[in-house]
Amino acid sequence: MQNIYGITLEDLENYFLNKNDKKFKATQIFDWIYKKRISNFDDMKNVSKETIKTLKDDFYFKKLEIVKKQEDIDVAKYLFKLEDDNLVEAVLMYHDYGTSICISTQVGCNMGCKFCESGRLKKVRNLEVYEMVSQILMVESDIKKRISHIVLMGIGEPFDNYDNVIKFIDIVNCGKGIDIGSRHITVSTCGIVPKIKQFTNYDKQVNLAISLHAPNNNIRDNIMNINKVYKIEDVMNSIKEYIKKTNRRVTFEYIMLKGVNDSKECALELSDLLKGINCYVNLIPYNETSHIEYKKSSSESIKTFYDILKKNHICVTIRKEFGSKVNAACGQLRSNYKEV
Ligand code: SAH
Repeated sequence: MQNIYGITLEDLENYFLNKNDKKFKATQIFDWIYKKRISNFDDMKNVSKETIKTLKDDFYFKKLEIVKKQEDIDVAKYLFKLEDDNLVEAVLMYHDYGTSICISTQVGCNMGCKFCESGRLKKVRNLEVYEMVSQILMVESDIKKRISHIVLMGIGEPFDNYDNVIKFIDIVNCGKGIDIGSRHITVSTCGIVPKIKQFTNYDKQVNLAISLHAPNNNIRDNIMNINKVYKIEDVMNSIKEYIKKTNRRVTFEYIMLKGVNDSKECALELSDLLKGINCYVNLIPYNETSHIEYKKSSSESIKTFYDILKKNHICVTIRKEFGSKVNAACGQLRSNYKEV
């Protein structure tokens, strides 16, 4: 038995073909599930009784359970309980251009970034495809509105759950499915180089963001364990290859941590590192958490850092702060709920 929200259109077509049945039935089923949003095989009016019986033998409908929701004006944070009682979260943000959702890809995370709350719970398991799809469906049905953008920046490292993440993208991007444009989907990684290389050959125009957070190996080694495996030079080389092949602009995320990576020297070094690369930098004011000692840089140092990058012709923005009142940094809601 498989959860119906975890199958791609192509796999469902193959399912029917393997049963010597018609491939178009997959489109009909997708239409019921994702356009009409029914969650019962018996409600599929134009599908034969026989097909419904076959489907019932192999698939079931089950979404996640929302156990907590915290809201502010421009943001809502959801805590979901999975079938095995594990908890993950998603954050919905209202922008002038639409609504975006930040979803989780794993229960816990093994990347061990020192500033990050999610990593305090080591990876328990990968999220299944249906668990990622269900985060979207649950939130859309809660707000009674369509979501326009997806970022994979919640709990977990998407490239440590690569195959499921790709299937998830196929389903949400599929015109017959949830139908969110590939350019409206962003995958964020801490820099798993072999997966960046694999992603370079992925044929959808999905955005790639790299959590860089430091301009050199010294600082990066201290705050991100992954840098002990894949050095900045390796990450940058794989990104250059990615840009060459895809012609797409890459985002570098850079959390501003007081006294750690926010000096003028760091800004100059970062400008040098990114010179000539088709990218933009997103400076992220650190969202402080009670369990971790890092502090957020002052607005003045963020502004100075920003100005130095600008002066050196690096495209840069300062991320709008959402949801500091609702513990929106990844992993915080789960962590506070569990009091771990
Ligand atoms: N593992 C992936 C995606 C999840 S983290 C990655 O590393 O990119 C999503 C982003 O949130 C990363 O850039 C991460 O470094 C950042 N982040 C983690 N904790 C944060 C906090 N307390 N404040 C601001 N950003 C944070």
